[in-house]
Amino acid sequence: TKYVLVTGGVVSGLGKGVTASSIGVLLKNCGYRVTSIKIDPYLNVDAGTMSPFEHGEVFVLDDGGEADLDLGNYERFMDITLTRDSNITTGKIYQAVIERERRGDYLGKTVQVVPHITDAIQDWIQRVAVQPVDGKAGVPHVCVIELGGTVGDIESAPFVEALRQFCIRVGEHNICNVHVSLVPVIGVVGEQKTKPTQHSVQVLRSLGITPALLACRSSHPLEESVRSKLALFCNVPTANVLSLHDVSNIWRVPLLMQEQAAHHIICSKLGLSNADKLDLSA
Ligand code: ADP
Repeated sequence: TKYVLVTGGVVSGLGKGVTASSIGVLLKNCGYRVTSIKIDPYLNVDAGTMSPFEHGEVFVLDDGGEADLDLGNYERFMDITLTRDSNITTGKIYQAVIERERRGDYLGKTVQVVPHITDAIQDWIQRVAVQPVDGKAGVPHVCVIELGGTVGDIESAPFVEALRQFCIRVGEHNICNVHVSLVPVIGVVGEQKTKPTQHSVQVLRSLGITPALLACRSSHPLEESVRSKLALFCNVPTANVLSLHDVSNIWRVPLLMQEQAAHHIICSKLGLSNADKLDLSA
């Protein structure tokens, strides 16, 4: 199984979920079987006890799992049926590790965030990534993982560390890191500002995760000069800076990515050869 990891910077509610879902659509329409995992770095075991005013509606999965709204986007975009295990929370991970500790599974060892929590996160991802979710037998080709929150948060730190280790565990040709960031427009001249993205990529790199693709959210298409500047400062080729500007309907986001050849970039990073077969007309 190959992985695409979607992280976010600058502010929350940027469109990581829509970006992750759209990547799933592209890969699915290249002929790959996809699955997905959403990581929510809060201590609630699931979204069932959280106020919809604070968190949006709870999405109920077929197995009764109460999850984040993004899981609904994944199911609709990729035409898959996820399970409660597709939504990882800090609460679930700690619950599982503490249960093992009480059973004595750690054989007297000191149980710690690194390596026990970080191992539990990686094992969970690998276990869920191989479960078929499209009604057919066999292992999915690609698992899209979305890390909720913004990089640099205290809450998400154990997940970021686990994912850093995960890149080594699966090998760098088996994982493609996508960072979703904001390019705001400031001032009367309406200049697109790259600094927030530069900083959030810096934070991500300082934590050991190198983005291969930048998905820039902005109100209008990115200027070419802004694209080049982001490429230079964030250490990616210019083509790997995607303009994911506001569109009237989120179903257009996969088309926006296709126009910028995102599927070619992701497939080539993952050593997948079907990018030419992409057909979004279905
Ligand atoms: P996150 O997962 O980062 O919290 P979501 O994927 O839930 O964010 O998206 C937040 C909001 O932004 C949603 O209402 C979504 O419809 C909207 N959105 C995301 N991408 C775009 C886009 N390219 N154009 C317009 N709206 C978008």
